[in-house]
Amino acid sequence: VGKQSRRKWLRRANSRCIFCEEPSVTKEHIWSEWMHPILVVTPEDEAVEFLKVHESKADRLGRLRVRNRQGSTAKKTVRVVCGTCNPGWMNDLEKEVRPVLEPLLLGVPVSLLTAGREVVARWITLKLIVGEHAQLGIAVVTQADRSAFMHERRIPDAVKIWIGQIDSPKWKHGWQRHAATLAWPGEAPPKPFRKNVQTTVFGAGKLLVFAMVSYLADYKGGVAETFAHVMPRLWPLSADRWPPERMVTEQEADRFAAYLDQVLRQRNVGWRPQPPEEA
Ligand SMILES: [Zn+2]
Repeated sequence: VGKQSRRKWLRRANSRCIFCEEPSVTKEHIWSEWMHPILVVTPEDEAVEFLKVHESKADRLGRLRVRNRQGSTAKKTVRVVCGTCNPGWMNDLEKEVRPVLEPLLLGVPVSLLTAGREVVARWITLKLIVGEHAQLGIAVVTQADRSAFMHERRIPDAVKIWIGQIDSPKWKHGWQRHAATLAWPGEAPPKPFRKNVQTTVFGAGKLLVFAMVSYLADYKGGVAETFAHVMPRLWPLSADRWPPERMVTEQEADRFAAYLDQVLRQRNVGWRPQPPEEA
């Protein structure tokens, strides 16, 4: 497949709804309108890191090549969802989550019951899936899992979520995503070659989210259990208490955001710099 036709294919693929696969996508803000006043955007909020991708090619010395994008989610728009899904089931989910989500965005200490946890986890999953399509060709969640999410609101098995509270200008609508291709030593990377692990840290008002999406079998990563009093696990459901004992510090949030970088530096993790030669 030549470069030209690959580009054309990517453009075509990108113009279909990531959920129902119908053509004709519309431009949408990442955050719904009711959230905008809570997230209050000022000009100096613009310089928030948006994306960090571990490129599928290493540099000459085999070091990780990392791509950075600047941006804030407050004004971020994406064109990946159609005019049926967005005002339909996606809007239903937004309406369902609002009463539970609003106190979390405002930092009001409320208890979070199982039903509330589930709906917040579903809303976060929706944001993760839409957010990972802000750039072409680096999405981790599979089409099968996106379809199951649309039809049954099924959160993919690959998704794990932790949440905390934070009071930080940097993180109130900051978004940082890391994506990479990981394989266990001696095992082949996914075929066709694609990104199979991503971590996302995003802030929305006083809510801080750390999410891991991993299609690498038996990979158990994420926020350590010793952190459960600050950053309790939301999904899969846990008995971790909410509200947390204290707020997450900005420094801790930055460390969560750098999580995948640290994983890639570990010796027992095989990071594949590029697709292997076809046999
Ligand atoms: Zn659709």
